[in-house]
Amino acid sequence: MKLLEGKTAIITGASRGIGKGIALTFAKQGANIAFTYLSSEEKAKALEEELSAFGIKAKGFKSDASKFEAAQDLAGQVMENFGSIDILVNNAGITKDNLLMRMSEEDFDTVMEVNMKSIFNLTKAVLRPMLKQRSGSIINMSSVVGVKGNAGQANYSASKAGIIGFSKSTALELGSRNIRCNVVAPGFIETEMTAKLDENIVKGWTDSIPLKRGGTPEDIANATVFLASDMSAYISGQVLNVCGGMLT
Ligand code: NAP
Repeated sequence: MKLLEGKTAIITGASRGIGKGIALTFAKQGANIAFTYLSSEEKAKALEEELSAFGIKAKGFKSDASKFEAAQDLAGQVMENFGSIDILVNNAGITKDNLLMRMSEEDFDTVMEVNMKSIFNLTKAVLRPMLKQRSGSIINMSSVVGVKGNAGQANYSASKAGIIGFSKSTALELGSRNIRCNVVAPGFIETEMTAKLDENIVKGWTDSIPLKRGGTPEDIANATVFLASDMSAYISGQVLNVCGGMLT
């Protein structure tokens, strides 16, 4: 049996990297997929086709997760096209790394808006349909850096730590309506986001990982499928570190 048969999922930032891995894994498990992207038009079109080949309904939406109105509009369109919203994966995220001494106000604000405010925007947007259905699973993408901090990423780690507080509060507020909210905190995952890091930094990370390798988008997708599915029906308000044992 497929774990997500007949469920509809919104996945933000799925044109590449972890979000794309999640979309493909969800489609294999029978979910209908509404995914978003910011600018990767062609990649989104190609993904739409790749997903549809699994025999599910798939549609990409150009939608800026950091904008409140855009999220409202997206949820409306998904309800019109798909008829329900059962799963929300808030995955869209960016980095603008710098030491605090050199970090601009703009780089702090942008990272907070894309990584953190987006989660408020999208959660608010799906709330009404999920409350009506009396069911839902919300999964928010944090990072091990949000749990333990990281030099050069004060903006990013603040946004990722904020996600954890937001998610725990959401789980407390919505549990009585059978809406669950959990967090996935990936460690070092090989995507375009980490491809821009210096070779020595990457070596430092992998050396410190007990499993001695970086993770793949599929590693994160598998944990996310579990949290999206009814297999995790009694799990809410939790942070699942998917980091090769980096955090214990
Ligand atoms: P990535 O390869 O850089 O992909 C980012 C995705 O987010 C793209 O699809 C991008 O769309 C989309 N996006 C960016 N800004 C957006 C916005 N304002 N609205 C909608 N979509 C937007 O990143 P990744 O490595 O897959 O990371 C995915 C998530 O995992 C992020 O939240 C990241 O912080 C988290 N994470 C990653 C790692 C890692 O090691 N890679 C570790 C811990 C946590 P376009 O293609 O259109 O730009």
